[in-house]
Amino acid sequence: AKENGKNQFYFFDIKEHVKVRANFRALRKIEKAIDNGEFELYFQPKLSAHNLQINSMEVLSRWNHPILGILSPNEFLPLIENDELIYKFDEWVIRESFLAIKKLKKKNLDVSLSVNISPKKFQQTTFVEKIKQIASEVNIDHSYFNDIEFEITENSALESINHTNDIIYELNKMGISFSLDDFGTGYSSLTHLKELNINSIKIDKSFIFDMLHNSEDMAIVNAIISLAKVFQIEVVAEGAESIEQLLMLLDFGCDSVQGYTIAKPMSFDNLVVYLENYIPD
Ligand code: C2E
Ligand code: CA
Ligand code: CA
Ligand code: CA
Repeated sequence: AKENGKNQFYFFDIKEHVKVRANFRALRKIEKAIDNGEFELYFQPKLSAHNLQINSMEVLSRWNHPILGILSPNEFLPLIENDELIYKFDEWVIRESFLAIKKLKKKNLDVSLSVNISPKKFQQTTFVEKIKQIASEVNIDHSYFNDIEFEITENSALESINHTNDIIYELNKMGISFSLDDFGTGYSSLTHLKELNINSIKIDKSFIFDMLHNSEDMAIVNAIISLAKVFQIEVVAEGAESIEQLLMLLDFGCDSVQGYTIAKPMSFDNLVVYLENYIPD
């Protein structure tokens, strides 16, 4: 069995090498694609429960691949997220989001943007510095920070609660707010809401999809919303695909709702048309 084990180890080692090299080539392609401007920000509106307006949207990245067409993050993010390249990617998204808010304000559209930050980027010790650096590079009006929110995941926020609260404190001072993304899917317990100084939570779509037919999911969504109210944290729900889901979320007291029933993610130009023509019923 021992000799066999040695052979097996050798076999897997080669496979591992091939994989590492393939990943390396794929990563260099993605890096080149960023530099070539093949990535694009899409925007998905959120409906405010308070005035039924579209005041805010989430920034979602797409890769306009020259051969494969439009690629979603699940087709490229898993690879980048394990590599240093995620720093460059997130910085590109942040820079483009700052440029987008400038363009929206110039068109007199009073909206805010939520930007996803990967766990690795958020944990980087130079995170706050980088944000300030990008802000000065694109020369963003500092008042626009009030309309920028960063979405971080539970797990990345809980890695070190002190680190998280320090970063939130520093960026809150500038006006940037924080949302806890994919809420309910991580290993956080509801008590963490007490310790984290976040401004809002986003209930993961996996709880919304079945909510109407699954009384447990419904109870979880309702409980999260009630608890957030106690902590005076805003609640956003994502993944509302039907009017019935949207209405139930509004009934439960959600502050805003995102999902295909309101709008799918769209390009900047389509967003402008959408916002200029959006009239609440
Ligand atoms: P997420 O942050 O949970 O974003 C919500 C995802 O749900 C988006 O997928 C959105 O298109 C999708 N979605 C929204 N409404 C509905 C709905 O009603 N039904 C269904 N079935 N899906 C809906 P997307 O754009 O494919 O992004 C996937 C994930 O990739 C995001 O999940 C986020 O974690 C990550 N991501 C996307 N863009 C960026 C980015 O620019 N930077 C970073 N770091 N991560 C990003
Ligand atoms: Ca998100
Ligand atoms: Ca804010
Ligand atoms: Ca989610």
